[in-house]
Amino acid sequence: MNPKIWLSSPHMSGGEFNFVREAFDTNWIAPLGPHVNGFEHDLEAFTGVKYAAALSSGTAALHLALIMLGVQAGDEVICQSFTFSATANPIVYLGAIPVFVDSEAETWNMCPDLLEQAIKERIAKGRKPKAIIPVHLYGMPAKIERILEIARQYEIPVIEDAAEALGSSVNGKNAGSFGLMAVLSFNGNKIITTSGGGALISDEEKFIDQARFLATQARDPAPHYQHSQIGYNYRMSNVCAGIGRGQMQVLGNRVAQRRKVYETYLQFLPEFSHIEFLQEPQGYFSNRWLTTILADPQKNNGITRETIRLNLEKENIESRPLWKPMHLQPVFQNYPNYINGVSEKLFNNGLCLPSGSNLTKDDLDRVIVNIKKLF
Ligand SMILES: *Cc1c(COP(=O)(O)O)cnc(C)c1O
Repeated sequence: MNPKIWLSSPHMSGGEFNFVREAFDTNWIAPLGPHVNGFEHDLEAFTGVKYAAALSSGTAALHLALIMLGVQAGDEVICQSFTFSATANPIVYLGAIPVFVDSEAETWNMCPDLLEQAIKERIAKGRKPKAIIPVHLYGMPAKIERILEIARQYEIPVIEDAAEALGSSVNGKNAGSFGLMAVLSFNGNKIITTSGGGALISDEEKFIDQARFLATQARDPAPHYQHSQIGYNYRMSNVCAGIGRGQMQVLGNRVAQRRKVYETYLQFLPEFSHIEFLQEPQGYFSNRWLTTILADPQKNNGITRETIRLNLEKENIESRPLWKPMHLQPVFQNYPNYINGVSEKLFNNGLCLPSGSNLTKDDLDRVIVNIKKLF
Protein backbone atom coordinates (compact mmCIF):
# COMPACT_ATOMS: atom_id res chain seq x y z
CA MET A 1 0.00 0.00 0.00
CA ASN A 2 1.19 3.49 -0.85
CA PRO A 3 1.85 5.76 2.15
CA LYS A 4 -1.11 7.81 3.36
CA ILE A 5 -1.62 11.28 1.91
CA TRP A 6 -3.44 13.43 4.46
CA LEU A 7 -5.85 16.26 3.78
CA SER A 8 -3.91 18.75 5.89
CA SER A 9 -1.37 17.53 8.41
CA PRO A 10 0.83 19.46 10.86
CA HIS A 11 4.03 20.79 9.31
CA MET A 12 6.76 21.58 11.80
CA SER A 13 9.77 23.67 10.78
CA GLY A 14 12.17 22.34 13.42
CA GLY A 15 12.36 25.79 15.04
CA GLU A 16 9.43 24.96 17.33
CA PHE A 17 11.56 22.57 19.34
CA ASN A 18 13.95 25.30 20.50
CA PHE A 19 11.06 27.25 21.98
CA VAL A 20 9.58 24.16 23.62
CA ARG A 21 12.97 23.21 25.04
CA GLU A 22 13.31 26.72 26.44
CA ALA A 23 9.93 26.33 28.14
CA PHE A 24 11.16 23.10 29.74
CA ASP A 25 14.58 24.49 30.65
CA THR A 26 13.01 27.45 32.44
CA ASN A 27 10.16 25.33 33.87
CA TRP A 28 7.50 27.58 32.33
CA ILE A 29 4.98 24.73 31.98
CA ALA A 30 1.87 26.76 32.69
CA PRO A 31 -1.04 28.48 30.98
CA LEU A 32 0.97 31.68 31.00
CA GLY A 33 4.62 32.60 30.51
CA PRO A 34 7.04 34.34 28.14
CA HIS A 35 6.10 32.26 25.08
CA VAL A 36 2.42 33.14 25.51
CA ASN A 37 3.35 36.84 25.52
CA GLY A 38 5.78 36.33 22.64
CA PHE A 39 3.24 34.44 20.55
CA GLU A 40 0.67 37.19 21.13
CA HIS A 41 3.21 39.79 19.93
CA ASP A 42 3.93 37.66 16.85
CA LEU A 43 0.21 37.54 16.03
CA GLU A 44 -0.19 41.29 16.53
CA ALA A 45 2.79 42.01 14.29
CA PHE A 46 1.61 39.66 11.55
CA THR A 47 -2.07 40.62 11.42
CA GLY A 48 -1.62 44.32 12.13
CA VAL A 49 -4.32 44.01 14.79
CA LYS A 50 -3.28 45.82 17.98
CA TYR A 51 -4.05 43.23 20.66
CA ALA A 52 -4.14 39.43 20.83
CA ALA A 53 -5.01 36.93 23.56
CA ALA A 54 -3.70 33.38 23.06
CA LEU A 55 -6.35 30.88 24.14
CA SER A 56 -6.96 27.14 24.33
CA SER A 57 -8.96 27.03 21.08
CA GLY A 58 -10.73 29.05 18.42
CA THR A 59 -14.03 27.85 19.85
CA ALA A 60 -13.08 29.29 23.26
CA ALA A 61 -12.19 32.61 21.60
CA LEU A 62 -15.61 32.79 19.95
CA HIS A 63 -17.34 31.89 23.22
CA LEU A 64 -15.56 34.73 25.04
CA ALA A 65 -16.26 37.22 22.24
CA LEU A 66 -19.99 36.51 22.46
CA ILE A 67 -19.94 36.80 26.26
CA MET A 68 -18.19 40.18 26.05
CA LEU A 69 -20.82 41.45 23.61
CA GLY A 70 -23.42 40.62 26.24
CA VAL A 71 -25.09 37.77 24.34
CA GLN A 72 -27.54 36.04 26.67
CA ALA A 73 -30.12 33.27 26.62
CA GLY A 74 -32.84 33.99 24.06
CA ASP A 75 -30.78 36.56 22.10
CA GLU A 76 -30.25 36.06 18.38
CA VAL A 77 -26.86 35.97 16.64
CA ILE A 78 -26.46 35.88 12.85
CA CYS A 79 -24.08 33.13 11.74
CA GLN A 80 -22.82 31.98 8.35
CA SER A 81 -24.50 28.65 7.59
CA PHE A 82 -21.70 27.31 5.37
CA THR A 83 -19.04 26.63 8.01
CA PHE A 84 -17.68 24.18 10.56
CA SER A 85 -19.98 23.65 13.57
CA ALA A 86 -17.48 25.38 15.89
CA THR A 87 -18.68 28.73 14.50
CA ALA A 88 -22.23 28.11 15.72
CA ASN A 89 -21.74 26.01 18.87
CA PRO A 90 -20.71 28.85 21.23
CA ILE A 91 -23.95 30.71 20.39
CA VAL A 92 -25.87 27.73 21.72
CA TYR A 93 -23.56 27.37 24.77
CA LEU A 94 -25.03 30.72 25.86
CA GLY A 95 -28.63 29.66 25.26
CA ALA A 96 -28.77 32.15 22.40
CA ILE A 97 -30.31 31.45 18.99
CA PRO A 98 -28.21 31.17 15.81
CA VAL A 99 -29.87 32.68 12.74
CA PHE A 100 -28.22 31.05 9.74
CA VAL A 101 -27.48 33.02 6.58
CA ASP A 102 -26.54 31.32 3.30
CA SER A 103 -23.58 32.12 1.01
CA GLU A 104 -22.96 33.95 -2.26
CA ALA A 105 -21.37 31.99 -5.11
CA GLU A 106 -18.24 34.13 -5.57
CA THR A 107 -16.39 33.58 -2.26
CA TRP A 108 -18.77 30.92 -0.81
CA ASN A 109 -19.17 33.04 2.32
CA MET A 110 -22.04 34.97 3.92
CA CYS A 111 -24.23 36.63 1.27
CA PRO A 112 -24.46 40.37 2.09
CA ASP A 113 -27.91 40.73 0.43
CA LEU A 114 -29.33 37.85 2.43
CA LEU A 115 -27.66 39.24 5.55
CA GLU A 116 -29.45 42.54 5.11
CA GLN A 117 -32.77 40.79 4.52
CA ALA A 118 -32.26 38.73 7.68
CA ILE A 119 -31.41 41.80 9.77
CA LYS A 120 -34.48 43.69 8.53
CA GLU A 121 -36.80 40.77 9.24
CA ARG A 122 -35.38 40.07 12.68
CA ILE A 123 -35.67 43.77 13.61
CA ALA A 124 -39.28 43.81 12.33
CA LYS A 125 -39.97 40.93 14.70
CA GLY A 126 -38.48 42.96 17.55
CA ARG A 127 -35.46 40.65 17.68
CA LYS A 128 -32.46 42.73 16.63
CA PRO A 129 -29.40 40.44 16.33
CA LYS A 130 -26.68 40.92 18.94
CA ALA A 131 -23.79 40.04 16.62
CA ILE A 132 -22.88 38.88 13.11
CA ILE A 133 -20.35 36.08 12.53
CA PRO A 134 -19.07 35.87 8.95
CA VAL A 135 -16.45 33.23 8.14
CA HIS A 136 -13.49 33.28 5.71
CA LEU A 137 -13.97 29.67 4.72
CA TYR A 138 -11.06 27.64 3.38
CA GLY A 139 -8.98 30.82 3.61
CA MET A 140 -11.05 32.77 1.05
CA PRO A 141 -12.09 36.08 2.59
CA ALA A 142 -15.80 36.88 2.71
CA LYS A 143 -17.24 40.02 1.09
CA ILE A 144 -16.25 41.60 4.34
CA GLU A 145 -16.32 45.24 3.27
CA ARG A 146 -20.01 45.01 2.28
CA ILE A 147 -20.83 43.00 5.37
CA LEU A 148 -19.20 45.66 7.57
CA GLU A 149 -21.10 48.42 5.78
CA ILE A 150 -24.41 46.70 6.49
CA ALA A 151 -23.40 45.93 10.07
CA ARG A 152 -22.47 49.58 10.62
CA GLN A 153 -25.76 50.77 9.16
CA TYR A 154 -27.73 48.64 11.66
CA GLU A 155 -25.15 49.08 14.44
CA ILE A 156 -24.50 45.39 15.00
CA PRO A 157 -20.98 44.23 15.98
CA VAL A 158 -19.09 41.81 13.71
CA ILE A 159 -16.97 38.93 15.01
CA GLU A 160 -14.86 37.57 12.15
CA ASP A 161 -14.28 33.84 12.17
CA ALA A 162 -10.79 33.85 10.65
CA ALA A 163 -9.95 30.37 11.99
CA GLU A 164 -9.08 29.16 8.48
CA ALA A 165 -7.75 32.44 7.10
CA LEU A 166 -4.55 33.48 8.86
CA GLY A 167 -2.45 35.01 6.06
CA SER A 168 -5.39 35.92 3.80
CA SER A 169 -6.28 39.51 2.92
CA VAL A 170 -8.59 41.84 0.99
CA ASN A 171 -7.02 44.84 -0.74
CA GLY A 172 -3.95 44.38 1.43
CA LYS A 173 -5.87 44.34 4.73
CA ASN A 174 -5.57 41.10 6.67
CA ALA A 175 -8.39 38.73 7.47
CA GLY A 176 -9.06 39.19 11.17
CA SER A 177 -8.47 42.96 11.09
CA PHE A 178 -11.96 43.96 9.87
CA GLY A 179 -14.34 43.03 12.68
CA LEU A 180 -14.68 44.45 16.18
CA MET A 181 -13.04 41.18 17.21
CA ALA A 182 -11.75 38.15 15.29
CA VAL A 183 -11.06 34.54 16.08
CA LEU A 184 -8.04 32.48 14.97
CA SER A 185 -7.43 28.75 15.35
CA PHE A 186 -4.22 26.73 15.65
CA ASN A 187 -5.79 23.29 15.66
CA GLY A 188 -3.71 20.44 14.20
CA ASN A 189 -5.05 20.75 10.67
CA LYS A 190 -4.93 24.55 10.29
CA ILE A 191 -2.35 26.48 8.29
CA ILE A 192 -0.15 26.70 11.39
CA THR A 193 -0.71 24.76 14.58
CA THR A 194 0.10 24.80 18.29
CA SER A 195 -1.24 21.20 18.47
CA GLY A 196 -4.45 22.81 19.72
CA GLY A 197 -5.12 26.46 20.42
CA GLY A 198 -6.69 29.68 19.28
CA ALA A 199 -6.63 33.43 19.72
CA LEU A 200 -8.91 36.40 20.02
CA ILE A 201 -7.65 39.56 18.34
CA SER A 202 -8.99 43.12 18.43
CA ASP A 203 -7.91 46.73 18.08
CA GLU A 204 -9.79 47.44 21.32
CA GLU A 205 -7.63 46.72 24.33
CA LYS A 206 -10.58 46.39 26.70
CA PHE A 207 -11.83 43.25 24.92
CA ILE A 208 -8.45 41.56 25.03
CA ASP A 209 -7.86 42.47 28.69
CA GLN A 210 -11.31 41.15 29.52
CA ALA A 211 -10.74 37.98 27.48
CA ARG A 212 -7.52 37.25 29.43
CA PHE A 213 -9.39 37.85 32.70
CA LEU A 214 -12.32 35.58 31.81
CA ALA A 215 -9.97 32.92 30.37
CA THR A 216 -8.14 32.58 33.71
CA GLN A 217 -11.21 31.95 35.91
CA ALA A 218 -12.12 35.62 36.38
CA ARG A 219 -9.99 36.27 39.46
CA ASP A 220 -10.59 39.63 41.11
CA PRO A 221 -7.45 41.52 42.20
CA ALA A 222 -7.04 40.15 45.74
CA PRO A 223 -4.36 38.04 47.48
CA HIS A 224 -6.88 35.25 48.05
CA TYR A 225 -9.06 33.77 45.32
CA GLN A 226 -12.06 36.02 44.90
CA HIS A 227 -14.61 35.98 42.08
CA SER A 228 -17.42 38.35 41.14
CA GLN A 229 -18.03 36.72 37.76
CA ILE A 230 -18.12 33.26 36.22
CA GLY A 231 -14.75 32.44 34.67
CA TYR A 232 -13.32 29.94 32.22
CA ASN A 233 -10.12 27.95 31.89
CA TYR A 234 -9.35 29.00 28.32
CA ARG A 235 -5.74 30.25 28.33
CA MET A 236 -3.05 28.79 26.06
CA SER A 237 -0.21 26.89 27.72
CA ASN A 238 3.35 28.23 27.49
CA VAL A 239 4.46 24.95 25.86
CA CYS A 240 1.86 25.23 23.08
CA ALA A 241 2.70 28.90 22.60
CA GLY A 242 6.33 27.82 22.09
CA ILE A 243 5.21 25.65 19.18
CA GLY A 244 3.24 28.64 17.88
CA ARG A 245 6.29 30.92 17.97
CA GLY A 246 8.22 28.44 15.86
CA GLN A 247 5.32 28.18 13.44
CA MET A 248 5.00 31.96 13.11
CA GLN A 249 8.56 32.04 11.75
CA VAL A 250 7.42 30.05 8.72
CA LEU A 251 3.83 31.26 8.27
CA GLY A 252 4.58 33.29 5.12
CA ASN A 253 6.30 30.28 3.67
CA ARG A 254 3.37 27.98 4.55
CA VAL A 255 0.96 30.31 2.76
CA ALA A 256 3.19 30.26 -0.33
CA GLN A 257 3.37 26.45 -0.23
CA ARG A 258 -0.42 26.03 0.09
CA ARG A 259 -0.95 28.45 -2.79
CA LYS A 260 1.46 26.40 -4.87
CA VAL A 261 -0.57 23.26 -4.13
CA TYR A 262 -3.67 25.08 -5.41
CA GLU A 263 -1.81 26.25 -8.54
CA THR A 264 -0.67 22.71 -9.29
CA TYR A 265 -4.21 21.29 -9.15
CA LEU A 266 -5.49 24.25 -11.17
CA GLN A 267 -2.88 23.64 -13.84
CA PHE A 268 -3.57 19.93 -14.33
CA LEU A 269 -7.12 18.96 -13.34
CA PRO A 270 -9.09 21.10 -15.84
CA GLU A 271 -7.10 19.58 -18.71
CA PHE A 272 -9.14 16.41 -18.60
CA SER A 273 -12.25 17.27 -16.59
CA HIS A 274 -14.85 19.95 -16.00
CA ILE A 275 -13.72 20.37 -12.43
CA GLU A 276 -14.16 23.94 -11.19
CA PHE A 277 -12.08 25.93 -8.73
CA LEU A 278 -12.75 28.72 -6.24
CA GLN A 279 -11.11 31.80 -7.79
CA GLU A 280 -9.93 34.93 -6.02
CA PRO A 281 -12.04 38.01 -6.79
CA GLN A 282 -10.10 41.19 -7.69
CA GLY A 283 -8.04 42.34 -4.69
CA TYR A 284 -8.55 39.11 -2.77
CA PHE A 285 -5.68 37.00 -1.46
CA SER A 286 -6.45 33.53 -0.05
CA ASN A 287 -4.02 31.54 2.07
CA ARG A 288 -5.48 28.52 0.20
CA TRP A 289 -5.75 26.59 3.45
CA LEU A 290 -7.56 23.88 1.52
CA THR A 291 -7.91 23.51 -2.24
CA THR A 292 -11.58 22.91 -2.96
CA ILE A 293 -13.05 21.64 -6.22
CA LEU A 294 -16.57 21.38 -7.63
CA ALA A 295 -17.48 18.34 -9.72
CA ASP A 296 -20.90 18.65 -11.31
CA PRO A 297 -21.97 15.10 -12.34
CA GLN A 298 -24.00 16.51 -15.24
CA LYS A 299 -20.87 17.98 -16.79
CA ASN A 300 -18.64 15.03 -15.85
CA ASN A 301 -20.39 11.92 -17.19
CA GLY A 302 -22.02 11.21 -13.85
CA ILE A 303 -18.79 11.42 -11.84
CA THR A 304 -19.69 12.94 -8.45
CA ARG A 305 -17.51 14.26 -5.68
CA GLU A 306 -18.20 10.96 -3.89
CA THR A 307 -16.90 8.97 -6.88
CA ILE A 308 -13.71 10.99 -6.68
CA ARG A 309 -13.46 10.75 -2.88
CA LEU A 310 -13.96 6.96 -2.75
CA ASN A 311 -11.52 6.46 -5.59
CA LEU A 312 -8.86 8.49 -3.73
CA GLU A 313 -9.60 6.61 -0.51
CA LYS A 314 -8.83 3.30 -2.23
CA GLU A 315 -5.37 4.72 -2.98
CA ASN A 316 -4.87 5.76 0.64
CA ILE A 317 -5.46 9.44 -0.15
CA GLU A 318 -7.63 11.49 2.20
CA SER A 319 -10.11 13.98 0.75
CA ARG A 320 -13.31 15.34 2.28
CA PRO A 321 -16.66 16.78 1.20
CA LEU A 322 -17.05 20.51 1.82
CA TRP A 323 -18.61 21.54 5.15
CA LYS A 324 -22.23 20.48 5.42
CA PRO A 325 -24.18 23.72 5.98
CA MET A 326 -25.45 24.30 9.51
CA HIS A 327 -29.08 24.72 8.41
CA LEU A 328 -28.96 21.12 7.14
CA GLN A 329 -27.43 19.70 10.34
CA PRO A 330 -29.83 17.69 12.53
CA VAL A 331 -28.78 19.65 15.62
CA PHE A 332 -29.36 23.09 14.02
CA GLN A 333 -32.20 22.53 11.55
CA ASN A 334 -34.93 24.08 13.70
CA TYR A 335 -33.23 27.47 14.08
CA PRO A 336 -34.24 30.39 11.86
CA ASN A 337 -32.45 30.55 8.52
CA TYR A 338 -32.19 32.64 5.35
CA ILE A 339 -31.36 30.30 2.50
CA ASN A 340 -30.73 30.71 -1.24
CA GLY A 341 -29.50 27.18 -2.08
CA VAL A 342 -25.86 28.15 -2.72
CA SER A 343 -24.26 26.30 0.20
CA GLU A 344 -26.37 23.18 -0.30
CA LYS A 345 -25.22 22.97 -3.90
CA LEU A 346 -21.60 23.52 -2.88
CA PHE A 347 -21.95 20.73 -0.32
CA ASN A 348 -23.41 18.36 -2.90
CA ASN A 349 -20.70 18.94 -5.52
CA GLY A 350 -17.67 20.04 -3.53
CA LEU A 351 -14.56 18.22 -2.36
CA CYS A 352 -11.45 19.31 -0.41
CA LEU A 353 -8.26 17.85 -1.88
CA PRO A 354 -5.04 17.12 0.03
CA SER A 355 -3.59 20.61 0.60
CA GLY A 356 -0.86 20.41 3.25
CA SER A 357 2.21 22.60 2.90
CA ASN A 358 4.28 19.44 3.42
CA LEU A 359 2.98 17.60 0.33
CA THR A 360 5.72 16.59 -2.09
CA LYS A 361 5.55 16.82 -5.88
CA ASP A 362 5.18 13.02 -5.93
CA ASP A 363 2.24 13.22 -3.51
CA LEU A 364 0.48 15.74 -5.75
CA ASP A 365 1.23 13.63 -8.81
CA ARG A 366 -0.38 10.64 -7.12
CA VAL A 367 -3.56 12.62 -6.42
CA ILE A 368 -3.74 14.05 -9.93
CA VAL A 369 -2.99 10.74 -11.70
CA ASN A 370 -5.67 9.02 -9.60
CA ILE A 371 -8.30 11.58 -10.58
CA LYS A 372 -7.13 11.51 -14.19
CA LYS A 373 -7.64 7.73 -14.37
CA LEU A 374 -11.20 8.21 -13.21
CA PHE A 375 -11.96 10.62 -16.05
C1 LIG B 1 -11.22 25.22 13.21
C2 LIG B 1 -12.35 26.16 13.14
C3 LIG B 1 -12.91 26.73 14.28
C4 LIG B 1 -12.59 26.30 15.67
O1 LIG B 1 -11.30 26.34 16.07
P1 LIG B 1 -10.77 25.32 17.20
O2 LIG B 1 -9.43 25.87 17.51
O3 LIG B 1 -10.71 23.96 16.56
O4 LIG B 1 -11.71 25.37 18.34
C5 LIG B 1 -13.91 27.68 14.13
N1 LIG B 1 -14.35 28.04 12.93
C6 LIG B 1 -13.87 27.49 11.80
C7 LIG B 1 -14.42 27.94 10.49
C8 LIG B 1 -12.87 26.52 11.87
O5 LIG B 1 -12.42 25.94 10.75
